Amino acid sequence: MKIAVVGTGYVGLVAGACFAESGNDVVCVDKDEKKIATLNDGHMPIYEPGLEEIVRRNRQEGRLSFTTDLTEAVQQSSIVFIAVGTPQGEDGSADLSHVLGVAREIARAMNGYKVIVDKSTVPVGTSDKVRAVVKAETAHPFSVVSNPEFLKQGAAVEDFMKPDRVVIGAEDRRAEEMMLELYSPFTRTGAPIMVMDCASAELAKYAANAMLATRISFMNEVANVCELVGADVDQVRKAIGSDRRIGTSFLFPGVGYGGSCFPKDVKAMMRFASEKHYDFKILQAVEAVNHCQKTRLFAKMRAHFGDMAGKTVGVWGLAFKPRTDDMREAPAIPLIDALLDAGSTVRAYDPEATKVAKGIFGDRVTFTSNNYDALKGADCLAIVTEWNEFRRPDFPRMKTLLREPIVFDGRNLFTPDQMKQHGFTYYSIGRA
Ligand code: NAD
Repeated sequence: MKIAVVGTGYVGLVAGACFAESGNDVVCVDKDEKKIATLNDGHMPIYEPGLEEIVRRNRQEGRLSFTTDLTEAVQQSSIVFIAVGTPQGEDGSADLSHVLGVAREIARAMNGYKVIVDKSTVPVGTSDKVRAVVKAETAHPFSVVSNPEFLKQGAAVEDFMKPDRVVIGAEDRRAEEMMLELYSPFTRTGAPIMVMDCASAELAKYAANAMLATRISFMNEVANVCELVGADVDQVRKAIGSDRRIGTSFLFPGVGYGGSCFPKDVKAMMRFASEKHYDFKILQAVEAVNHCQKTRLFAKMRAHFGDMAGKTVGVWGLAFKPRTDDMREAPAIPLIDALLDAGSTVRAYDPEATKVAKGIFGDRVTFTSNNYDALKGADCLAIVTEWNEFRRPDFPRMKTLLREPIVFDGRNLFTPDQMKQHGFTYYSIGRA
């Protein structure tokens, strides 16, 4: 099949590469000329495990190309994906200007029947808006499909190639059949393709992210209570996770959720509910808890040191989660801001996000080329992202580098017993 994907970010680039990998001819479009030039030069504008290899192979085999020319891409394709950003607007609602702008451009470029697929995360009713925008611009026939994306950054290629499910909101049989054919290679393992109305498909994406954010905030509150009553959140987590109604995933407390999706999608869901005069109280609490949780590591440091002025803090992990370079809404940002405001010096290391972090903090933070250098002369270590390479460190070496052996672990990478044995003063989340 001939596919165009408009928007070459975490979702669009992964989707385009994976559709090419399953044998389709794919052209990826972006208005960002630098990004397209980078891709055409054989480099990756983002870090995502396994992506570079798939992009390289499919480019070489002639199934994947990159362009800024939307018109040509649309004209040579039968299915056109919209995978541009839907950032948070000023009032918390999803900003649809990119999605609708692209829909208009697609309409103007059309030269025959097209299936226009919205892959961006968009509020209920957006497929109707896309339909109206396209209809106003062209007499060519078209179908609008809603196909929300559930991939996780850090495992995006794997998630796309082996999805838990594919959700398709379709308005007619022709578009539905084309989508079923396109996705059939990805669901051979038995993952369901769920065809539904567009409103349900659009809402399913928000409900999934809101549910996951709710679990995180819930467990963070459980962890905070554990600290107050002398319980161990790891034990509590295992005890409740073994209940099949609850399950084990997404029960890890930490320093709050971040990223480009959970914060904005929770806000957008509250917003479109409130537009229908519905007060989504649980999500208000989820958001408030998350905001507080992002301040807890700094609060623990202040409780230990009293004053943070003049202290040097080594920070391990900047990205909002491991295996990505994405720092959008990353908990490291408010932590480092609080430290700098308090007069601390920050030495930070992240395996992939340093370049992005330099764009945020400039020379206010010292970025090191490995995790041990971040500890040189530091009064303590703060762990913010649970990269695997931080899990088995050389503890004696850490002790020689740190001025005092103190660790504030926002991701519970170690056990309190283990840290005691190694002679560290150790603070974590939800454990005495
Ligand atoms: P992103 O910001 O990484 O990428 C968006 C891309 O769209 C950018 O490269 C931008 O230049 C391009 N773009 C914007 N306007 C354009 C236009 N008019 N023409 C051509 N290109 C244009 O965003 P993302 O993280 O890939 O997310 C895209 C959508 O998918 C969002 O709605 C997001 O909520 C959703 N989503 C994201 C994830 C994720 O993990 N990142 C997962 C599932 C769903």
